[in-house]
Amino acid sequence: MVDLKNIVKRFGDLTVLNEVSLSVAEGAVMALVGPSGGGKSTLLRCINLLEIPTSGSVDIAGDRLEFRPDLRVNSKDVHRLRRHTGMVFQNFQLFPHRTVIENVTEGLTTVLKWPKERARERAMMLLEKVGLAHKAEVWPSTLSGGQQQRVAIARALAPSPKVLLCDEPTSALDPELSGEVVDVLAQLAREGTTMVMATHDLRLASKIANEVIVLDGGVIVEQGSSRDIFTRPQRERTKRFIATLT
Ligand code: ADP
Ligand code: MG
Repeated sequence: MVDLKNIVKRFGDLTVLNEVSLSVAEGAVMALVGPSGGGKSTLLRCINLLEIPTSGSVDIAGDRLEFRPDLRVNSKDVHRLRRHTGMVFQNFQLFPHRTVIENVTEGLTTVLKWPKERARERAMMLLEKVGLAHKAEVWPSTLSGGQQQRVAIARALAPSPKVLLCDEPTSALDPELSGEVVDVLAQLAREGTTMVMATHDLRLASKIANEVIVLDGGVIVEQGSSRDIFTRPQRERTKRFIATLT
């Protein structure tokens, strides 16, 4: 479902990703772990093309774009590919002046031009899925962090993306509140949602990821099943890093 080949991302002289290749099968969950500054967020942003890779190729659901420093990117292609993805951020990023349900319908009515009623029906279905149908008409600020993140997940899923990208979805939450977000993501994983998530949350990664990639200094230093990576990492540096996760 997601296939990245030889992704390089440079900011000026700084190479942040260096020849990163990965594949995520349909229905699989991949966790990106590794020290801060290792390139996890940049890699997610290269998948949804919020960052344009310096070189390499991005293929989502068979829709493939190739990047080269000397090749102009076509913004129409970029928008088409981006629509295959939904993104969940560490700090939720809900629209504060929209109710919960409006947060979920917004993209459907403005970008996809769905009629309001149809958008509300889909939003209610998604809010039910994340256990927040009863909060549809309230302001996001009245919700706990865990509830806000569940709304953000519903919003990301509204346009039926092919892949859900999550950037440290539980990092801003206390352990009690992160549990409810982990449960929602675990449920989505069981239902076959394809996901790529950057996380420091060992509970999240070990509970729902099939495959784990350790990204350090912009390169993949280790890759394997979540059981192998978390219970018998091969490299000393990975061992030390895993020991710092909570
Ligand atoms: P992680 O999410 O693993 O902590 P990031 O992808 O955020 O890592 O960052 C990787 C590196 O890229 C860091 O050194 C960061 O400073 C750098 N970086 C990220 N975005 C930019 C940018 N827009 N301009 C310059 N450097 C950036
Ligand atoms: Mg990050």
